[in-house]
Amino acid sequence: MTSSGMACTHGGSTILLDPKSAAGDVNFVSHAHMDHLPDRAGGVVLASESTRQLAALRGRDLGECVSHVDGLRMYDSGHILGSTGLLAGDTFYTGDICTRDRGFLRGARVPRCRTLVTECTFGLPEFRFPPVAEVCSRVDELVSMMYARGVPVILMGYELGKAQTLSQLFAHWAPMYYHDSVKRINDMHRAAGVPLKPAPGHTEAQKAGLLDRKPWVMISPMMPARSRFVAEMRQYGAVTISFSGWAASGRFPYSRGADHFMPLSDHCDFDELVGMVERSGAEQVYTIHGFVSEFAEHLRGLGISARPLEPAGPAG
Ligand SMILES: [Zn+2]
Repeated sequence: MTSSGMACTHGGSTILLDPKSAAGDVNFVSHAHMDHLPDRAGGVVLASESTRQLAALRGRDLGECVSHVDGLRMYDSGHILGSTGLLAGDTFYTGDICTRDRGFLRGARVPRCRTLVTECTFGLPEFRFPPVAEVCSRVDELVSMMYARGVPVILMGYELGKAQTLSQLFAHWAPMYYHDSVKRINDMHRAAGVPLKPAPGHTEAQKAGLLDRKPWVMISPMMPARSRFVAEMRQYGAVTISFSGWAASGRFPYSRGADHFMPLSDHCDFDELVGMVERSGAEQVYTIHGFVSEFAEHLRGLGISARPLEPAGPAG
């Protein structure tokens, strides 16, 4: 760790990993979720082209951005469009990672490495997600029931990543609308070649009176039950289904007040995390983000040297 966050050195250069301030020789940005984007551009940023474009769409200019640096290799991390992990020498940093296929996203395949720095958002055994196909059929059943009663349905998920996966997995429902913020990101995905169905944004649909013709399905970001948007949609009688990995555990109740919850995540579940660590062949694992102590302890129980990456001390 450094004052700028996580760092590793390779070939005499300092590589900062998802830094808040891009002040290293090379500043690796794994993906375009806000908590992984630098507040300030500075030095050379290493990121995929999709990450650069998505960051710009979200108002963050990555400055001098390259998609290749000699000696460093990016691997698709299967988390969202353009997300990558980084192999520097024999150290692999996962960024946010998902190893299961979901719609247009292919599950990550991690490289063999000696040292692994891994996220563990869902690093507790109670987070075991059902197959994506099972979640889809449960949702389709629910939407069918609502359609039979003329009730519109809003599918909610994080606006970058989950919302695009939902747009694709449930594209067979019609008519389909997107919340304006989801439409903007979906349009960028379509420009990048992701086959998402074109659909009107909610403001346009509302103005044209399309929402009065029920039922319909809309894809929206996670919105609190008390938000203006949800209140407006309630006037059409809409019910909400939210999608998150947290729905897999009863201990972490989802508090945003959606009518239904479905376990669908852009991260590895517990078994997938363990499998990913084992396949990497890493001799030393550092855990970051999430249940860092519990997951490291579990790995030690499997005979793998592991500990949380602490705010101070050697980063390996
Ligand atoms: Zn993320």
